[in-house]
Amino acid sequence: MTKAERVDFVLEELGKLYPETPIPLDHHDPFTLLVAVLLSAQCTDKRVNMITPVLFRRAGNPQLMAKLPVEEIQEIIRPCGLSPQKARAISVLSDMILNNHGGEVPQTFQELEALPGVGHKTASVVMSQAFGFPAFPVDTHIHRLSQRWGLSNGKNVVQTEKDLKRIFPQEHWNKLHLQMIFYGREYCSARGCDGRVCGICTALYPGRRKPVVTKKA
Ligand code: SF4
Repeated sequence: MTKAERVDFVLEELGKLYPETPIPLDHHDPFTLLVAVLLSAQCTDKRVNMITPVLFRRAGNPQLMAKLPVEEIQEIIRPCGLSPQKARAISVLSDMILNNHGGEVPQTFQELEALPGVGHKTASVVMSQAFGFPAFPVDTHIHRLSQRWGLSNGKNVVQTEKDLKRIFPQEHWNKLHLQMIFYGREYCSARGCDGRVCGICTALYPGRRKPVVTKKA
């Protein structure tokens, strides 16, 4: 298959497999999504979804969160890991949202990435999933699948994001990144897989003989 054919095939297959793309992190507005995404760094969505109801019962908006002592935030979010850093970031960003953005989560990459604990991937998730702006947050699943499906040979997530944005039409980005994450979680979480096992890989590369070695994100 040519790359254009691979792009069409991936879009079609993922569309069939995942017609619906519910947002994996439970939230009720952009602020709670932002906090949930921040907590999900090096933690599973499942665990985050167990913790956030407790946290948001105490403080479900920037006003209340800014007032909550950092130690209390840290205690609640401890099971998510990296709790000292995450608690401090949540507290400071709540304060910044209150004081610099009128209590509303800002809607630009630049402003989001200026918040503590918010990198480009977190900002992309919020821009896409909270505000519907076209974005393509690349996590390790998407990075790995992009290489194994011959969509990018990026050495890092920055290059992979650039490649995916170039080859897929913008109107697909918001749904497609979730579909790729779902596929990665369901079929491609095994680090040992060499690209010759499940449906999409074998359809894209029926004659693949050599194992694919993923360049680390
Ligand atoms: S064949 Fe392996 S590398 Fe390819 S999508 Fe399936 S699990 Fe992932």
